[in-house]
Amino acid sequence: MTAYYAPKTPAETLALLSAHAPDCALLAGGTDLVPKLKSGAAAPGTLVYIGSAGLDYIRQEESRLIVGAAATWTMLAEHPLVASCAAVLAAAARTPAASSPGVKNTATVGGNLATASPAADLATPLLALDADVRIHSVRGTRTVALGDFFTGPGKTVLLPDELICAVSIPLCGGISVFEKIGRRKAMSISVVNTAVRLVLEQGRCREARIALGSVAPVPLRCRGAEDMLIGKEPGRELFQACGAEALRACSPIDDAAATAWYRRTAGAALVARALGRAAGLPGTPEE
Ligand SMILES: Cc1cc2nc3c(=O)[nH]c(=O)nc-3n(C[C@H](O)[C@H](O)[C@H](O)COP(=O)(O)OP(=O)(O)OC[C@H]3O[C@@H](n4cnc5c(N)ncnc54)[C@H](O)[C@@H]3O)c2cc1C
Repeated sequence: MTAYYAPKTPAETLALLSAHAPDCALLAGGTDLVPKLKSGAAAPGTLVYIGSAGLDYIRQEESRLIVGAAATWTMLAEHPLVASCAAVLAAAARTPAASSPGVKNTATVGGNLATASPAADLATPLLALDADVRIHSVRGTRTVALGDFFTGPGKTVLLPDELICAVSIPLCGGISVFEKIGRRKAMSISVVNTAVRLVLEQGRCREARIALGSVAPVPLRCRGAEDMLIGKEPGRELFQACGAEALRACSPIDDAAATAWYRRTAGAALVARALGRAAGLPGTPEE
């Protein structure tokens, strides 16, 4: 039989994790975990529900936006601080192609990252925003850059007794854009997704971020393509070349959702379109 706890504070949560790990699972929104519990794919001896542990906050701390791990997709989509400081994250959480209202009301940012799906829709905007993950255990606290957090499909640097407490996002400048292709326009896991961020100064790119999902074992940044943009004037040909370069650095696979060829072709076009939107190029199609 599985033991069930619903701690009221992060400290209680960490004590429970420490006492019961590794035969213990954290339960947040349950949208990933509950189907696994039902099918028997996961069968932990202890379940620790973190929805009432005080981790569902969004606040600004000096020059960073701090999103508690139990903040839901709906909170991300609707919170004014996310809209003003991390609009691309709100856009990803809002996209009608992602989940249903019911899922968005319960699914959390911590669960999305801990699941470590290559297609996780919140990972690419957080990569484009240079986010860090704040990880706590009874042994202490550590901060890991999101780019170093994922280690493979379904795998992260998290140890069995560790909890993602929050995601920390620097208040960085620039215009960011999220784009996603799914197999249909609603409730669809990404066939490919991208988030880009451009900082333009005197008509040239001073800073660039390009993140891609569902085209490699983990969501990743495409540094070669980013470097191509620095010091250059925005333009359609440049952005197309960047899209092609970004996908060259990826290793998409054939699966039930799409072929690797489709992911490469559509992904390159998606990056070019996202960059065009971020740079405000006339004639760039909207989402
Ligand atoms: C119908 C449907 C549609 C979906 N559509 C999308 C979509 O469009 N895009 C997308 O990216 N995902 C989608 N998902 C997947 C899922 O909803 C998201 O990944 C969601 O954010 C998971 O969060 P959760 O709170 O439900 O996680 P849970 O199911 O509660 O947990 C998932 C895993 O993360 C661990 N975990 C949770 N919180 C923490 C924490 N704070 N610290 C450490 N570990 C933790 C749990 O132990 C578990 O292993 C969909 C799922 C469903 C069922």
